[in-house]
Amino acid sequence: MTTDSFEQTRWTLRDLLPARQGPEFDQILADLESAVAQLEAGRERLSPDLSTDDFRRFMALAEQIATLSNRLGYYSGLWLAEDTQNQDALAFQGRMHKLLTELENRTLFFDLWWKDLDDDAAARLLAASGDNVYYLESLRRFKPHTLSEPEEKIINLKDVNGVAALLNVYEMFTNAFLFKVEIDGEVKELTRDELTVYARDPRPEVRAAIYQELYRVYAEQGTVLGQIYQHVVRDWASENLTLRHFDSPISVRNLSNDIPDAAVDVLLQVCRENAPLFQRYFQLKADWLGLDKLRRYDIYAPLSTSDKTYPFGEAANLVLKSLGDFSPQLAAHARQVFAGGHLDSEIRPRKTSGAFCASALPGLTPWVLVNYAGRANDVATLAHELGHAVHGLMASDHTVLTFHSSLPMAETASVFAEMLLLDRLLADESDPAVRREILARSVDDAYATVMRQAYFVLFEREAHDLIEQGQTIDALSSRYMANLEEQFGQAVELSDEFRWEWVSIPHIYRTPFYCYAYSFGQLLVLALYRQYQAEGESFIPRYLKILAYGGSKSPAEILDEAGIDVASAAFWQGGFDVIADMIAELETLA
Ligand SMILES: [Zn+2]
Repeated sequence: MTTDSFEQTRWTLRDLLPARQGPEFDQILADLESAVAQLEAGRERLSPDLSTDDFRRFMALAEQIATLSNRLGYYSGLWLAEDTQNQDALAFQGRMHKLLTELENRTLFFDLWWKDLDDDAAARLLAASGDNVYYLESLRRFKPHTLSEPEEKIINLKDVNGVAALLNVYEMFTNAFLFKVEIDGEVKELTRDELTVYARDPRPEVRAAIYQELYRVYAEQGTVLGQIYQHVVRDWASENLTLRHFDSPISVRNLSNDIPDAAVDVLLQVCRENAPLFQRYFQLKADWLGLDKLRRYDIYAPLSTSDKTYPFGEAANLVLKSLGDFSPQLAAHARQVFAGGHLDSEIRPRKTSGAFCASALPGLTPWVLVNYAGRANDVATLAHELGHAVHGLMASDHTVLTFHSSLPMAETASVFAEMLLLDRLLADESDPAVRREILARSVDDAYATVMRQAYFVLFEREAHDLIEQGQTIDALSSRYMANLEEQFGQAVELSDEFRWEWVSIPHIYRTPFYCYAYSFGQLLVLALYRQYQAEGESFIPRYLKILAYGGSKSPAEILDEAGIDVASAAFWQGGFDVIADMIAELETLA
């Protein structure tokens, strides 16, 4: 393994779009218009008897339109991310957005025709669809729960000023909340985002004060917010259970994630059984902080942190080495991001904050943006985003419609890359303080992503039932406290204001049952990592194959082929065993 020198640079977008004006750019627009016009011209030929050759021609046009649209759409987003105040980039994005929306409306008829087609005709055409089968099947997944056209129209029409309006009001109302708290002898008026930064403050009294203020404000409006939730849940039930005949409220989400109900039930049950694991960690954290018992306020309290920093070149080599030790192919893919100038790692004024990876097209090296500042966290972020890029490159044999992995699988390569880095860092690190910091950060992340999110969904399941039975908002709050008591056991002291936490979680309003996708993704990777630890080399080709599927099959099918049963408790338990090992090591460092 060679050690290369890497510098923090800006990226180049030339591979995505050679120019923003002039003949090459005009040609792209002309090609796009021509493909859309050809698709439109074929509209009259659409019928259940459509020949497979004709269908393939339609799909080729659909792919061409998606490819050219992605070039323009991704370019405008990435250009603006470089400098969020750039007036030219803003104007370009506005123009592209308008153009792409118009084109999308012109081609919408094709998707609608496909969704509406009878099953026999669809099966005949699917058999000739090659790599696009899963994409096409996904469009039809909701067909058994689709109502007649006039009924669907009425639902859409009434939703705009019904449940969608209610959600709008919830957001407008809660986004306007201001929180007053005294910090450093000064009374500050803060937004929720500004307030919750202090959940990681080293001072215990500040952490307590911000949580008390947060839920004081939500409790004041608790009846109104709780009533909004009741309406949202009743609307969910009357539409999805009564009219669309889903088996249960959560089945709606499971179908859109394409994960079997049984697998989600097992996942949530295994999370529940592992609550004592994190309780053990919270006890340990209380010891480190010199407390008898951790308060709920202290969950994210910082440990005395080491001030170790990593120069960018060292970080890049660490990430590449950790990937390369696992699979040289993965490291080679990650190197492509550096070599192609597709990594924007500099810190610049007006550059977008945070980090992301944009896999624009199959076969094009993805673009990665990070704001690298040299902390251990930044190295993990670099590994995470390069993991996404590697995933995109591994799936480059698929079409533009199938190479993006579906939501539950989207973090498979990114979190796995973080795990590989974690092992690498620990192998090289003998300072107990640094080891503790690295491991504790991973366990903190696992708590927030796996356990907390699973308990949100466990609450939602109960809440939908209670509301169906006609229970009050107070009954929901009491049930929420019971949910927290189960999650934290004797390890964490809960104060009463947390009974209002549920009315402050936008996800359970906006996208019911969404949160388990976080638990699924993170635990999946930990469970895979467990298999790697147990099997060594023989695991690697199976893992690479999972990545190479991209989004061309359902999560259950992809994992089934890798010998993984997502409805098996033992598989999910494997993920918790990795966390248990980390906690065991932390106990020896205490
Ligand atoms: Zn990610």
